[in-house]
Formats: sequence, C-alpha cells, structure tokens
Amino acid sequence: MKIDVLTLFPEMFDALNCSLMGRAKEKGLYELRCHNIRDYSADKHKKCDDTPFGGGAGMVMTPQPIHDCIRAVDGEHNALRIYMSPRGKRLNQQIVKDLSQCGDIVILCGHYEGVDQRVIDMDIDMELSVGDYVLSGGELPAMVLIDCVLRYVPNVLGNAESTVDESFSQPLLEYPHYTRPQEYCGMPVPEVLVSGNHQNISKWRREQSLAITRKNRPDLLENK
Ligand code: SAH
Repeated sequence: MKIDVLTLFPEMFDALNCSLMGRAKEKGLYELRCHNIRDYSADKHKKCDDTPFGGGAGMVMTPQPIHDCIRAVDGEHNALRIYMSPRGKRLNQQIVKDLSQCGDIVILCGHYEGVDQRVIDMDIDMELSVGDYVLSGGELPAMVLIDCVLRYVPNVLGNAESTVDESFSQPLLEYPHYTRPQEYCGMPVPEVLVSGNHQNISKWRREQSLAITRKNRPDLLENK
C-alpha cells in the first residue's frame, strides 16, 4: 500500500517510524511519503494561509499550494483522496477495513481554520473525522488513520489473529487481559483463565465483553 500525506509539518510523521508501523515500513509492507505543502507555494514568501473572506477568526489554508501538491503527487487521480476534518464522516472500524482494501491513499492535513473549500470540491474524495472534538491540525488524525488501516495490511501485525478478536471487530469491546505474574499486589488473575478449560474461558471472555460494552458503549449493543 502506498500512502501520500500532504502537510505543513512533515516532521510530525517521524512518529510512525516507531514500533509496529516502523517495522512494517522497514519490511517494505507499505510506503509512506510526506509532502510539504509549503514547497508548492507560488508565493515569494512561501505563504500558505490567508485571512477568511467574510471575516472571522483565524487563517485559512490557500488553495494553490494544496491543489498543485495534489496534482504533483496523484496527477492521474489513481488514489483515494481523503481530507482529515472534524466535519467529515466519523472514522470507525468498518471504514478502516474498507480503506485497507482500497489501494493507494492520499491524505490531506489541514491547519489553522482549515482549507479553502474549493480545494475540497475539486480534489478531495472523502472527508474523515477521528471524533467529535477539534484538534489544531490534521497530522495526528492522519497518523491515527494510517496506524489503524495498516493493522489490516497483511503481515503488519505479528499475529494475524489480532484483528479478529479485538474491540469493535465483534462489534463488542474487548475482554480484559492478564499476564504474569499470576498474583500482583495481592490481586490474583481470574481463576477461569488459569483453569485450562477453553470453553469456560471463551464463555467468561464473552460475558466480560458484553458487560464492558454495556457499561461504556451501550450504543454498540443497540442494533444487536
Ligand atoms: N475550523 C474547523 C476546525 C479546523 S481544525 C472547524 O470548526 O471545523 C484544523 C485542522 O485540524 C482541520 O483542517 C483538520 O485537518 C484537522 N482536524 C481537527 N480536528 C479534527 C478531527 N476531529 N478529525 C480530523 N481532522 C481534524
């Protein structure tokens, strides 16, 4: 999978060189290219933002550097072009799975008050939000998207089972995990997990999943 990111802060994406995503990149399981939108600005001071028409607080990213950057990166429009935006459709595990199958992706990260609407109308296929709150830039949301999509790319996760059982895949939240030591700070792990009875373990995990989901996310149970 090839991912192109358009951003004013490409250095933020160094964070993806750590852990699982870093290893996946080293193994060549995906290709990530970050493009600095500022490099495409035709302005002599490389300016990429301006005040909003109609007034109001903050600055808006100008269309020219973004439009030219997208054309340079994906001139034939072969990739799915996503703008990270609090106005977008809210990301969920089903969208993540679909995106992992959809081929190459271009991700546009906004900053300040966002980007000029004309670039969204001309160049963007979909707007995605990572949740109902506002961040200062699209870089962290883009990294969230990249991380959760790549988990579905074959061989990125060590254990192919990991995406089957986890939260939202059921769609229930995941049961609690325990590891060694068997007793910690006077708290033993639940007896059933050391019983060796796999049927009972499965039953216990299912009950725990249901209880946690009922408590924290009853909305997930509504359509069941
Ligand atoms: N004025 C805008 C918010 C701009 S925040 C509004 O009220 O809708 C600046 C940038 O951060 C946005 O362009 C977007 O790329 C990114 N961003 C902020 N919150 C986000 C969220 N919840 N999901 C995805 N991107 C977000």
